[in-house]
Amino acid sequence: MNVEQVYKDANALLDGHFLLASGNHSSRYLQSAKVMEYPKKASLLTDALADMIKSAGIEVDTICSPALGGVLTGYELARSLDVRSIFVEKDGKGGMVLRRGFEITEGEKVIICEDIITTGGSALKAAKAIEALGAEVVAFASLANRGFCKRVNGNDIAKDECSLPQNTPLFALDDFTFEMYAPEDCPLCKEGKSEAIKPGSKS
Ligand code: ZN
Repeated sequence: MNVEQVYKDANALLDGHFLLASGNHSSRYLQSAKVMEYPKKASLLTDALADMIKSAGIEVDTICSPALGGVLTGYELARSLDVRSIFVEKDGKGGMVLRRGFEITEGEKVIICEDIITTGGSALKAAKAIEALGAEVVAFASLANRGFCKRVNGNDIAKDECSLPQNTPLFALDDFTFEMYAPEDCPLCKEGKSEAIKPGSKS
């Protein structure tokens, strides 16, 4: 599957001048919500991701996603794997929490699913929240890996910025490695023709 083409076809691979959640600037941005707009196309992506997970022999009871970004991907991946889907949400104190009556049983095998893994910060918070309830996190999964963490069968090595544990596999359909710049080093800012805009939830 040509994942980059899927993103381009969905107008989900944006070119411009973007302010990322990390505070860095970039000339490209993946808007994964756009590739999830059409459920049948979305399920083709998560079916491919599920095949990778099954091929690796990973046994899983439950998919858990950090809200909001991971929820649609996690739900579709759960459908592809025929397991249940739950999500954690921000606890207002910098962590994640399981609410809404969702429960975890001791030893339950869980995959943490995101739409995109950048440094994996949200995925790690989600993992910690459910491990505290007795879950065993057997893998991480995402549609796209931004190239900081090493995915199963990927070419990149894990960079220092990656916050995911090295001994837990990360499954992603593809690597998307874009340049990111600290604002003071951003060549687009130096050009002076544009200001970095925050894509995603605010626009
Ligand atoms: Zn800039």
